Parts: sequence; C-alpha cells; structure tokens
Amino acid sequence: MAHRVTLIPGDGIGPELAEATRRVLDATGIEFEWEVVDAGEAMIAAHGTPLPDGVLESIRRNKVAIKGPITTPVGEGFRSVNVTLRQALGLYANLRPARSMQGVVTRFSDVDLVIVRENTEDLYAGIEHRVGRDAAESIKIITREASERIARFAFEYAVANGRRKVTAVHKANIMKLSDGLFLESARTVAADYEGRVEFEDRIVDNMCMQLVQKPELYDVLVLPNLYGDIVSDLAAGLVGGLGVAPGANIGTEAAVFEAVHGSAPKYAGQNKANPTALILSGALMLRHLGHPDTAWRLEDALRAVVAEGRSVTYDLGGNAGTSQFADAIIERLGASTPTGAAAAT
Ligand code: NAD
Repeated sequence: MAHRVTLIPGDGIGPELAEATRRVLDATGIEFEWEVVDAGEAMIAAHGTPLPDGVLESIRRNKVAIKGPITTPVGEGFRSVNVTLRQALGLYANLRPARSMQGVVTRFSDVDLVIVRENTEDLYAGIEHRVGRDAAESIKIITREASERIARFAFEYAVANGRRKVTAVHKANIMKLSDGLFLESARTVAADYEGRVEFEDRIVDNMCMQLVQKPELYDVLVLPNLYGDIVSDLAAGLVGGLGVAPGANIGTEAAVFEAVHGSAPKYAGQNKANPTALILSGALMLRHLGHPDTAWRLEDALRAVVAEGRSVTYDLGGNAGTSQFADAIIERLGASTPTGAAAAT
C-alpha cells in the first residue's frame, strides 16, 4: 500500500528541492501518495496566517511529512513556521546526522556524528518581553520531563543503531539551575543504559573546540534546543556544509523530515541549490516508514553521484543544476536492483 505523506514545498529554494526529492523518492520503487500543502509568508493574504490549519490537519492525518525550508522574517513579523510546527505537533526530537561523504572536500574524512536536539523548549519557548525602552528579556525554559524524554530518545537511538556513546552538552557551570536540570536528567536516563551505551558530558564551548579538533572522538550528542541548533550547523560544516545536512523532527504522533539549511532566498528559482540535504532527509523518512534497505540504496546512489563529482551542484565544486543532480541519482537508482529484500523493506 502506498504511504500517504504530506509534502510542504516551502519557499525560497524549497520548491525546487522538494520537487527533486519527490522525484528521487518515487524512483526508489516505494509507493507514495503525496498530499501537497503550502505554508509560509505567501499564505498570509488568503489565510491570515503563514501556517493554515490545513497544514497541521494534513500532517496529523498522515503522521509523516517532508518539508522544504520556510523563510522567517528577522526581528519582527510572524513567528517561525518551522518552530510553530514543531511545537504544535509535539515534535520533541530533532535528529541531525552528520556523516562524511567521499567527494566532498572537507578538513576531516571520518566524521560520523548524530546530533539529537531537544525541540520544544529552552530559549525557543518564545517567551520574550521588553523591559522599558532599552532592555529585553528572553526566558529559558528547561523541564525534567522534556530533558529526560530527549535523553531517552538519544539512548534509544544509540541502542537501535549500534552507536557506542552519548555525550550530553550543556553550560551547567554557569546556568546551574536550567542547564543543571538538563544534565541531571541526562544522568538519570544514562543510568538505565549503563553497560550498554557509554555516557559522558561536555560544556558546550569546550564541545565546539573539541569537535573542530577531534570529531572522531564523538558519536551521539544530546543537547538543549539552542546549543543543538548551533552545534548541528557546526557538525554540518565538518562534513561539507548546509547543502549536505539532513534532519528529522520526531514526536509520538507525527514526524516531519527537513534539511538543516534554510530557504537561501538569493538562490531561489535558479535551479542551483543542492538537493542532497533534503534527499538525505528523505532517506531518514524511508527508515522511519520501515524501509531501511531502500534508505541505504538511496544513500548509496547519492553517495556514488557525489563521489563521481560530475553531476553535482556549485557548492560541491560542480556546475550541475538541482534537477540534473536529481536525474543522476535516479539513473543510479535505476542501475541498482530494486528487487527482492530491498524492494520489500
Ligand atoms: P540558509 O541555510 O538559508 O542559507 C545560508 C547559506 O548557505 C546560503 O546563502 C547558501 O550559500 C548556503 N546554502 C544553504 N542551503 C543550501 C543548499 N541547499 N545548496 C547550496 N547552498 C546552500 O540560512 P539563512 O540565510 O540564515 O536563512 C534564510 C532563511 O531561511 C531565513 O528566513 C531563516 O529563518 C530560514 N530558515 C528556515 C529553516 C527551516 O525552514 N527549517 C531553517 C533555517 C533557516
């Protein structure tokens, strides 16, 4: 039976990347029924909101969505659609793997990190106010419930994927109460996995330095929302930049798959942006839908095209467009065998 999936093209480079990703996913042989819904600034005129009710209803119904990036105005204007979606759907875990790819020139060749970012609270709770004319306050919310839930997600991910270690990242030396509670919660959960998955913690500034010096020492990192956002871009930089960094937002009722990068408005409509990050997010979606072998087949095809280097976008040193890159992956997929176990998984 076909998987019914909500597809949100997004804006900026989103629609081109979403189209490339949809074509590649269809070419895997897994059957999808795409329900395309729009969100973002262009919706405001007709719906009075950048996130029309129909979008949330579609995701709640289908339980799985893949989305292109959506622009958020800086400083003023509407609240981030991306953040609102994650909070409204309770997508508490943001999973962002960063793995080196042959053919992508970087300083390290053996990076294999998984960032697990808490997705619902911290400074992203959106509780901000001005104090008079010349000051402003943002409230950082950390709860035991959300911290233990994200730590458990990280450990369960480690167990399910054969990973050896979870590192909790914090600034509990300074924010003794909020980050202190995050660390205490991670330690509580870690005790349940003793002997199965190693546990350690790092202060976030030290973590950043260590990651750019010896990333091979780290495996799965679990972080509160803001540090998770920043450190996942750092990890993306280690493996070739935002063009190749996939992500997933996972909750108990739904999952939304999206690239780490934003809408890169300056490249919109030019058939120029790299579709790798969204296609790899599609591979994460295939695993979530119970097709791990097909996900590997898709990643292998993508990696082969990148390693060959003839049909890649500008950011990977090539001059192919978004759609030609997707065509090359589809051609590779066609050359591998979508039969037997792989097709059935
Ligand atoms: P960005 O990720 O959109 O772009 C930064 C730069 O990275 C680009 O100028 C480009 O040089 C490069 N880049 C990004 N994606 C690329 C790709 N696929 N291929 C090739 N190069 C790529 O970050 P930004 O400029 O800070 O944000 C632009 C907008 O996107 C903002 O409105 C921001 O709020 C929004 N945003 C949305 C999401 C999301 O939808 N989840 C995430 C991050 C940012």
